[in-house]
Amino acid sequence: MTGAGRAALSIACAAVAMWAAGGAARSSQRAAPPESALVADLVAANRILVMEGVLDGMGHVSVRDPRVPGGFLLARSIAPELVTAGDILEYGANGEPIDARGRTSYLERFIHSEIYRARPDVQAIVHCHTPSLIPFAASDVPVRAMYHMAAFVAEGAPVFDIRKAGGVTDLLVRDAPLGRALAKTLGARPAALMRGHGAVVVASSIPNVVGRSVYLDVNARAQMQALALGGRVTYVEPDEAKLRMADPNEYARAWDLWKRKLR
Ligand code: MN
Repeated sequence: MTGAGRAALSIACAAVAMWAAGGAARSSQRAAPPESALVADLVAANRILVMEGVLDGMGHVSVRDPRVPGGFLLARSIAPELVTAGDILEYGANGEPIDARGRTSYLERFIHSEIYRARPDVQAIVHCHTPSLIPFAASDVPVRAMYHMAAFVAEGAPVFDIRKAGGVTDLLVRDAPLGRALAKTLGARPAALMRGHGAVVVASSIPNVVGRSVYLDVNARAQMQALALGGRVTYVEPDEAKLRMADPNEYARAWDLWKRKLR
């Protein structure tokens, strides 16, 4: 074989090899695990939210997957307190698992996919049924910031009424259109209450979304106590809240404490 022939043959062989390896290359790319520190924080978030009374056997927390546009990491359908790293699944922008590995997904995963789609600033999302938030989701009394730890809610939280978006439903955000309607109600806000259901809380990081969720609960209970006193309630005003929220790591010290408590 001439030199040119050998070169042509080797190019052809390389092309065949690349073609054959294409599928494997794609799946090995897909199999490259998400950053372990991010997964560890997501696992910790699940368990902290239970420890602090925000979640019980239900509810979920996700984090945006920095490797996949619109993608996110979320546990398989399992009680948050039981979540380990092996339970974390990778989801695409459409809210479907990239490789379910035979695991079932939370029905309400579209809460996450549609909020990540609508809110490029959001890096982490909690969906909860926290008891203290249910009265505010059912009432025309808006939730307001009682103290600096919940400054983010100084401008209130919109209430999502699924009946306006989807008529008569079982109240669950079961598909992408309902997720989109919820994201639309949320708008640019840090949290939305869900009538007859619970709430969704968003933030720039896992520690921040956990902090916001914990203190939204504490705040709601304090607000109900203040309202029960029967006098005039003076809330944290938006101009005060703005100054407090200038700290991008507002909940860092609490997050470190919560993580240590898990051990
Ligand atoms: Mn729910």
